[in-house]
Amino acid sequence: MRHGNLFVISGPSGAGKGTLVARLAEEVPDVWISVSATTRPPRAGEVEGETYYFLTQEAFKKLIAEDGLLEWACYAGNYYGTPKASVEKALEAQKQVILEIEVQGAFQIKDKMPDAHLVFVEPPSLEILEERLRGRGTESEEIIKRRMERAEIELSEKMRYDICLVNDKLDDAVQELVAYVNATADE
Ligand code: 5GP
Repeated sequence: MRHGNLFVISGPSGAGKGTLVARLAEEVPDVWISVSATTRPPRAGEVEGETYYFLTQEAFKKLIAEDGLLEWACYAGNYYGTPKASVEKALEAQKQVILEIEVQGAFQIKDKMPDAHLVFVEPPSLEILEERLRGRGTESEEIIKRRMERAEIELSEKMRYDICLVNDKLDDAVQELVAYVNATADE
């Protein structure tokens, strides 16, 4: 029988983590994707409790104080964190648990849970990353600038991850991720 595992997926905003993780869930039936809490306002089309739990700063700080988060970090001016109870429940149920989080949170997880598998998703280049961020059409210039600065910091941490996938051709990156998750689960 497959055992439960924790996978952390990081990479610059616009690298395609969300799409990759959604495709992984279509292809691997025991994948469970964690829903994070954030103080960032919802973008058009984002659904409370599905994309994120959208919280006020006050509610987020309360969660921290109650030890309700497995990790949390501040990213481009907003707080983001992983609810602890649901992740623990999914691991007990032997799921392949996926956290799509930024690098500070990833290292907090690795410290607390050394068995976690860290996956870094890299864009083919910074130019392509910027094009993708602009192409979304959801972010202001100021936010794109902050996210590009952040991307360079994140890329400098990729060596600390267990594997690094270059998201050039989406189908190839999906297959690499599926193979990694299946190999780990079947170990
Ligand atoms: P976005 O605002 O584009 O949805 O997310 C911004 C960044 O926050 C992304 O790199 C995303 O992976 C990260 N993120 C999302 N949820 C969490 C979380 O629970 N914890 C941490 N540390 N980062 C998160």
